[in-house]
Amino acid sequence: MATVDKAKAQRRALLGDEDASMVFETSKGVDVVATFDGMNLREDLLRGIYAYGFEKPSAIQQRAIVPIIRGRDVIAQAQSGTGKTATFSIAILQKTDIQLRETQALVMSPTRELATQIQKVILALGDYMNVQCHACIGGTNVGEDIRKLDYGQHIVAGTPGRVFDMIKRRNLRTQSIKLLVLDEADEMLNQGFQEQIYDVYRYLPPSTQVVLASATLPVEILQMTQKFMTDPIQVLVKRDELTLEGIKQFFVAVEKEDWKFDTLCDLYDTLTITQAVIFCNTKRKVEWLTEKMREANFTVSSMHGDMPQKERETIMKEFRAGDSRVLITTDVWARGLDVQQVSLVINYDLPNSRELYIHRIGRSGRYGRKGVAINFAKNDDIRILRDIEQYYSTQIDEMPMNINELV
Ligand code: ADP
Repeated sequence: MATVDKAKAQRRALLGDEDASMVFETSKGVDVVATFDGMNLREDLLRGIYAYGFEKPSAIQQRAIVPIIRGRDVIAQAQSGTGKTATFSIAILQKTDIQLRETQALVMSPTRELATQIQKVILALGDYMNVQCHACIGGTNVGEDIRKLDYGQHIVAGTPGRVFDMIKRRNLRTQSIKLLVLDEADEMLNQGFQEQIYDVYRYLPPSTQVVLASATLPVEILQMTQKFMTDPIQVLVKRDELTLEGIKQFFVAVEKEDWKFDTLCDLYDTLTITQAVIFCNTKRKVEWLTEKMREANFTVSSMHGDMPQKERETIMKEFRAGDSRVLITTDVWARGLDVQQVSLVINYDLPNSRELYIHRIGRSGRYGRKGVAINFAKNDDIRILRDIEQYYSTQIDEMPMNINELV
């Protein structure tokens, strides 16, 4: 009973219904603005927000939108699915001068799908503003990119490689950029992307405001931010509040790798109750598992980063529409992607970091919905799960028989 109450209380706090000061550590002097009306937003933007279906700002939105609008550097950490994308999107739209047909804000994220999703959210919230927002991502036609950028884009949401390419060619002009957002900031500042981010950063005007957003922001990353942020406002989640109470976490003990496949087949009916995402650690494993599931006559779709971009787009479209229900994928899907119907996440392989665990299970339980995460654990994996449990002060129990009822 106590855990049910805790789940409810956390949910209400994160969605902005209750005081969330137990959840966040926020810089001094940050006001909490409990309504969109109270944020002094432009009329056409406010209209877009309500038309999109938002009634009330979530906890992170109540704390971070106004400081970004005021021009402060902001580090915004909040649990997955609690509205970080809309936080920076609303602030960007408010700060955009529509009369000026130049790029004024640049949002960078680690995957093409996420960049496209952000573009769509910005266009939807800005529906009444006549705003131009372009997704500048790899794997697409360069000529088309150039044409769109030359036409003039107020906002660009992109992935680092293509963005840098367009900056170097001078098709993405940077002189009017006032705001840089790094979504999934800890990933963007990690080894793999860091150089590319600095490459882009060097082309931006020195006064560019910087906003970081992520569900996870390890200390090493926070320490690094001094290099390119000025006296940032911080809204940070306490570590023991980072896992969403609404997502129930379980494990299934398997003695051998081979057993995972049978376990997954046994769970298939549960997977299709709504929608499910299954994570493997390599592209090859994704292909192998997809093949094997299909041989056994199960309907599944799959996606990974080596697929042609067109195919990735088709798979995303089908999954978002609910035409496919079970998606087997890699960590390309771990961060940021928002499909509200996903209620189950399976870690066929355990993720390689504590942060990835949070992001993967966060594909379910979007905006306060219920979710279930099931970890397939070989003998030595149990130890890893216990470590995750302890690190986030959460609970990962053995999967019960009545799992269907929980999804
Ligand atoms: P995050 O970036 O924190 O993972 P998102 O911004 O993707 O979360 O939001 C998760 C979901 O919640 C999206 O489907 C979004 O439309 C919805 N959402 C965000 N803010 C609100 C709000 N204030 N009211 C209702 N729904 C919201």
